[in-house]
Amino acid sequence: MYRSHTCGELRKADINKEVVLAGWVQKVRDKGFMVWVDLRDRYGITQLIFDEERTAKKIFDQAQKLGREFVIQITGVVIERSSKNPNISTGAIEILVSELNILNEALLPPFTIEDDTDGGEELRMKYRYLDIRRNTVKQNLIFRHKVSQVVRNYLSKEGFIEVETPYLIKSTPEGARDFVVPSRMNEGQFYALPQSPQTFKQLLMIGGLDKYFQIVKCFRDEDLRADRQPEFTQIDCEMAFVEQEDVLNAFEGLTRHLLKEIKNVEVKEFPRMTYDEAMSTYGNDKPDIRFGMTFGELNAFAQHKDFNVFNNAELVIGIAVPGGNKYSRKEIDNLIDWVKRPQVGALGMVYCRYHDDGSFKSSVDKFYDQDDLQKWAELTGAKPGDLICVLSGETNKTRTQMSALRMELGDRLGLRNPDDFAPLWVVDFPLLEWDEETKRYHAMHHPFTSPKPGQINLLDSDPGAVKANAYDLVLNGNEIGGGSIRIYDKNTQSLMFDHLGFTKEEAKAQFGFLMNAFEFGAPPHGGIAFGLDRLVAILGGQETIRDFIAFPKNNSGRDVMIDAPSSIDEQQLNELHLKLTNP
Ligand code: ASP
Repeated sequence: MYRSHTCGELRKADINKEVVLAGWVQKVRDKGFMVWVDLRDRYGITQLIFDEERTAKKIFDQAQKLGREFVIQITGVVIERSSKNPNISTGAIEILVSELNILNEALLPPFTIEDDTDGGEELRMKYRYLDIRRNTVKQNLIFRHKVSQVVRNYLSKEGFIEVETPYLIKSTPEGARDFVVPSRMNEGQFYALPQSPQTFKQLLMIGGLDKYFQIVKCFRDEDLRADRQPEFTQIDCEMAFVEQEDVLNAFEGLTRHLLKEIKNVEVKEFPRMTYDEAMSTYGNDKPDIRFGMTFGELNAFAQHKDFNVFNNAELVIGIAVPGGNKYSRKEIDNLIDWVKRPQVGALGMVYCRYHDDGSFKSSVDKFYDQDDLQKWAELTGAKPGDLICVLSGETNKTRTQMSALRMELGDRLGLRNPDDFAPLWVVDFPLLEWDEETKRYHAMHHPFTSPKPGQINLLDSDPGAVKANAYDLVLNGNEIGGGSIRIYDKNTQSLMFDHLGFTKEEAKAQFGFLMNAFEFGAPPHGGIAFGLDRLVAILGGQETIRDFIAFPKNNSGRDVMIDAPSSIDEQQLNELHLKLTNP
């Protein structure tokens, strides 16, 4: 028996018990005649005491030589602590040690293993196993476990069946590059790692399983934008015989349940917003609706004067910053500099103060009178005491810039409280998205998404206008899930591939298996996938998904602990029939 109790377990009621504990040495305080040791395990910290008078000399000497992170086992008696520590659960007691067994010595750790560590990110990642000993990381992993369990239990109770799908597959287009794996047994051929189990879950519906889920790794070889991982986890789900409304209701249920179980938050409603509305009022397809500052389109009251900046713009947008009239000139100039930073990219910003007496003072008073500015206030919902900020230019760019400004101000004004949860569905996404680089349409969600009924004929005349049966679940400005109702007949799927620029041969070579399956009685079906890493981070009130992943990769897609990726030897290359062009 390594231990009779954990290091988080003993209380006043245990005084006089003889106990055996095992764990890591967190800290040693040596007073010469007395040595205190904080012993840590997953469950907590217990203070050990070695006393020159009461502890055998051999053991006392050993205790004086203990170093940080030594793994030890002790036997001792629980005694009352004279100076209690109310901050830890075992703070009322300590253990007077009678036996000490050093199970393993440890090198001096490269950073302190405490909540507040001196270790930088790179160092902590290199020694992630030491980082995991820290409370914060450990708690995050336990939290993630809890979220996964709640999801599993809920979905199983709702009749979803967890099915594993393969990792060595053929490409599933989700808009990224595939990771590929060379096949030794099939010379010159490659598997792709799944960007998601999309086609498999559809095949499971054709297989009659009706409701599927899986907590599953997905792999996307993307240039790593901030806080993305090349491998990440989805809660992947699919249902048969459903319409969009059924899927939304089912996963509203899951989200409600999660928020209740994990955060004890009851969400009253899940508003639905069309993609078009989200873009025009928030400039963003994942709006944070915890706060207002929605966009007012000012074209009609901004483009009738001689101000050419606005006259030449496709769109003029204003937002009302609550209480913003109190900003000094310097603070406003700072804001202007902020929107002009290359990351935001605005050319400038017009502003208008709304004074308490109802009058306006703008940076473009030369062109606009009080009546015009009154209209701006009405369209942005500004009240006396607010500041109206106005950006203009090409529609999409201006919306993106204004959205960035809105979020920044939301942060600065403390309107994005991590303890508030405001989910919503964004629906009616466009089916296709024009890609300037390749000069063709791409599927906005993925190629298996069904167009809105009755809009298929628009595919030829106005492809960009076709809306899809696709939806995203948005929480506090983050997309936490996305899915669609699928195409389930061969002809529509084949038409879709045509529009995406696949030749018939390419479509057959890549997706023949799915199109064939559609000919053997495919039921109507649809589904969704949640990004588990992000969901856990948001529920945990934090921003970085890496903090909730046991062994994450860095921004260049490297695991610095195991040093991967790495080169492979000549023999392995030969077996895989590979030759490096640049060895
Ligand atoms: N496979 C999709 C994705 O990874 C989710 C879905 O359509 O169900 O985003």
